[in-house]
Amino acid sequence: VIETEAAVLRASGSGSDGIPVFEALQIEPVQLDEPGPGEALVSIAVASICHSDLSVLTGDRPRPLPMVLGHEASGVVAATGPWTTRVRVGDHVLLSYVPACGRCRHCAEGRPALCEPGNRANAEGRLLTGSRPFRDAGGALLHQHLGLSAFSRMTVAAQESLVVLPEAMPLDHAALLGCAVVTGVGAVINTAGVEPGATVAVFGLGGVGLSVVMGAQLAGAAMIVGVDVAADKLARARELGATDGLLADATVVERVLELSAGGVDYAFDATGVPLVLEQAYRSTRRGGVAVALGLSHPDARISISPAELVSGERSLRGSYMGTTVPARDVSRLTQLYLRGQLPVELLVGSRIRMADIPHGFERLHAGVVGRQLVEISTADG
Ligand SMILES: [Zn+2]
Ligand SMILES: [Zn+2]
Repeated sequence: VIETEAAVLRASGSGSDGIPVFEALQIEPVQLDEPGPGEALVSIAVASICHSDLSVLTGDRPRPLPMVLGHEASGVVAATGPWTTRVRVGDHVLLSYVPACGRCRHCAEGRPALCEPGNRANAEGRLLTGSRPFRDAGGALLHQHLGLSAFSRMTVAAQESLVVLPEAMPLDHAALLGCAVVTGVGAVINTAGVEPGATVAVFGLGGVGLSVVMGAQLAGAAMIVGVDVAADKLARARELGATDGLLADATVVERVLELSAGGVDYAFDATGVPLVLEQAYRSTRRGGVAVALGLSHPDARISISPAELVSGERSLRGSYMGTTVPARDVSRLTQLYLRGQLPVELLVGSRIRMADIPHGFERLHAGVVGRQLVEISTADG
């Protein structure tokens, strides 16, 4: 058994004051099993705080608790279990939040983000191999977050959850590829297939939304309209290639329609807020495509006009993990980054220590600009 330290979430939801139960997330000493067959022990280098972690705390993403959170991360393989062949000790790895079995119907069709056994394991808070390797100091079982549980100095993951990175890729910026960048850039390139010259609107400019902006720039979009309630996020979007910025309010759809002379070709909702997804949909031109990539509560519903859908030949598409094929796309994204065409560093808002993770969740809830990178492997932790 390996003794380490991790951010453990023990409850979710909000108090009677409506404030999420931030105090339910604490850094604790934990015990970790040695890697089993097909698994690897990873020393986490950098893990960033993503809105999906916060959604588990707020209860918008119901998950089995207690759980070691964290899923957007990079690290170094410290040990491998028996019959682990995809990674070796010393490999720099990106953690990937849907382990793909490689054998189910979706994997066979080249859509590993939809992998059935992988997503079932994630929902049940275990690894693809079946293990739940974390215990708390009292020996009680802790669930795994998305097969990764990266807010820990060490973690054990299935080899299907790991993608080997080239040594030239800095581990801090690599961490961001794991969720924000594959989700946002993937939604543009893989899910929507945005063409050069297209017009694009992006609703919600957190890490994922800013990655959509980056992807649209990469795809050669002629107009990229960023939409958010925070002016400083609009400014960050402009640095990444947004041509216009609109502060979100009740009139935002009309303003997008005006700016784009009748609607954009592609509108992306990165917020997961049902009303915002409706706004994104209504911002598309006739024949346009709305892409939903923000996660909302399973019970949430939207309202759209079937008549506009039909007579306008609009499309509404979901995008999970950017329809990414990690073995293909992480290599592409890494090459683009190394050539200076994917300025991932502009997603970074601040760098914090492991002890600051609980406070980091409060800052994310308050609407901090840019990703908070947790530097986990540094000596002063
Ligand atoms: Zn995420
Ligand atoms: Zn599969």
